[in-house]
Amino acid sequence: MTDILETLPTFEPGWVWLCGAGPGDPGLLTLHAYHALQSCDHLVYDALVDERCLALVKPGAELEYAGKRGGKPSALQADISARLVELARAGKRVLRLKGGDPFVFGRGGEEALTLVEQDIPFRVIPGISAGLGGLAYAGIPLTHREVNTAVTFITGHSLAGRVPDDIDWQALASGAPVLVFYMGMKHLAQISQQLREAGRPSHEPVAIVCNATLPSMQVLETNLADCAADVARAGLEPPAIIVVGDVVRLRAGLDWLGALGGKQLTSEPLG
Ligand code: SAH
Repeated sequence: MTDILETLPTFEPGWVWLCGAGPGDPGLLTLHAYHALQSCDHLVYDALVDERCLALVKPGAELEYAGKRGGKPSALQADISARLVELARAGKRVLRLKGGDPFVFGRGGEEALTLVEQDIPFRVIPGISAGLGGLAYAGIPLTHREVNTAVTFITGHSLAGRVPDDIDWQALASGAPVLVFYMGMKHLAQISQQLREAGRPSHEPVAIVCNATLPSMQVLETNLADCAADVARAGLEPPAIIVVGDVVRLRAGLDWLGALGGKQLTSEPLG
């Protein structure tokens, strides 16, 4: 392990590394992310970065919260970008750590473009996005040969706080058999209704994966018609990934975490 870390790029002063921390489980950090945590001077992190990941930072490094989480006062995006520039200009090794992957609904592109504009050198370290890692921990494959050859990732929440206006629901409903929503909990009833109006069947399987990969992870299996009511009844809260499609049925065979707790798996979940 030490040998590998020594072959990774050196974190130079005055650089910003824009890095994904994965969905929560610190075991899902990449070696690049670990190396960055061990060599940064200043860490600017988001709300969804797990504390156990933060705990891996080199002693003496400064930690700065730039989180944006519903309800709490949030740092403005422009302020965060300006702060990264300021720290880099002060000669710090600046680690910008985000939940999941920085370029998947994470506004990493916006921050990186500010760095480009301001001539600050940067590196991007991908992370395991919640829509990938979260589903794997729930025992739901994103693709399965007999079920789907395509998958669509969608954000359920726009800058304006609504379901994004530019979603073409007809195209979405007919485009891919599996739909993975980020930030969709608040508008789940509307999402479910729009998809059914656009032709997706009411009984289509849906899974809600909350706090994916964390010890507090919860998975609710439901269907398109009932999902909003079921979520309310179960009292589920964000962060959550919502997956719509027949791949959810595979969970009966592939819920490996459930099996650790004694759940009986079936080898023919689609049968
Ligand atoms: N860049 C992140 C996404 C940020 S948007 C990534 O690639 O994963 C924030 C949304 O991501 C949340 O509203 C939720 O939909 C999803 N999310 C992030 N972490 C999650 C987790 N541990 N469990 C479930 N959903 C998560």
